[in-house]
Amino acid sequence: MLKGKAAVVTGSTSGIGLGIARVLASKGANVMLNGFGDAGEIEKIRAGIEAEFGVKAAYNGADISKADSIKGMVDDCVAKFGAIDILVNNAGIQHTAAVEDFPAEKWDAILAINLSGVFWGIHHALPHMKKKNFGRIINIASVHGLIASKHKAAYVAAKHGVVGLSKVVALETAETGITCNTICPGWVLTPLVQKQIDDIAAREGISVADAQYKLLSEKQPSKQFATPEQLGELAAFLASDAAAQMTGVALPMDGGWTSQ
Ligand code: NAD
Repeated sequence: MLKGKAAVVTGSTSGIGLGIARVLASKGANVMLNGFGDAGEIEKIRAGIEAEFGVKAAYNGADISKADSIKGMVDDCVAKFGAIDILVNNAGIQHTAAVEDFPAEKWDAILAINLSGVFWGIHHALPHMKKKNFGRIINIASVHGLIASKHKAAYVAAKHGVVGLSKVVALETAETGITCNTICPGWVLTPLVQKQIDDIAAREGISVADAQYKLLSEKQPSKQFATPEQLGELAAFLASDAAAQMTGVALPMDGGWTSQ
């Protein structure tokens, strides 16, 4: 389905990004991985994708909080794969605190990675996509791009920003072969969420299993996590020809969270 397409997935050394990169590779796309982590582990993931799916996989360690670094990653993808057809802006971080206690450096870091990083990725990829008159920009926001929760001021502000930014890009590219959409996951069990579960367990003196159930049942009616693989399949659909007329939408995959 995506044979020969060149994809960059930011924050793909872990969690949702890794799930998306693997699904895109399984459909034939060459993938550029990005994100932090142990160099040996990352190389194992990269080589594993090449061996399992018979595609090219590369890694670029760009820091998504830095515009220049993002330009280097986009240029690296074009140099290695000849194009950038699919850009998945997925890298993201979280910090929870009440507004009046929110640390300035956390606010700045979340806005830089979760919002500005998405802008700079699109900014640098668009000229290459316009040259080919083809592009699929897929931004991983969150249910928190559509609604709010307490103690997530920076995250909710950034994710709402991503949903708005995606609509602007969709309008500016509407007459081209480029689309720009947002995926809004509910709870997905990744290291980012495991930390929140561990915090609940410690704060309330309950087991990790009970904390996991509490976290799910407060917000996600299905009481089940969405998986990185399911999100990967949705991203692959948005990257396909079938989704050529879908642009500017924000699609929740949230077990009913935003239906409440
Ligand atoms: P994760 O912590 O498992 O993975 C985050 C990835 O981003 C890692 O690869 C990490 O190395 C990378 N990263 C972090 N800072 C970076 C930086 N400055 N430069 C480059 N890479 C960086 O988290 P996840 O849960 O897989 O989250 C992925 C995305 O999905 C995030 O944008 C998050 O907000 C969003 N999301 C997650 C959930 C969930 O329940 N897990 C729900 C909704 C949205």
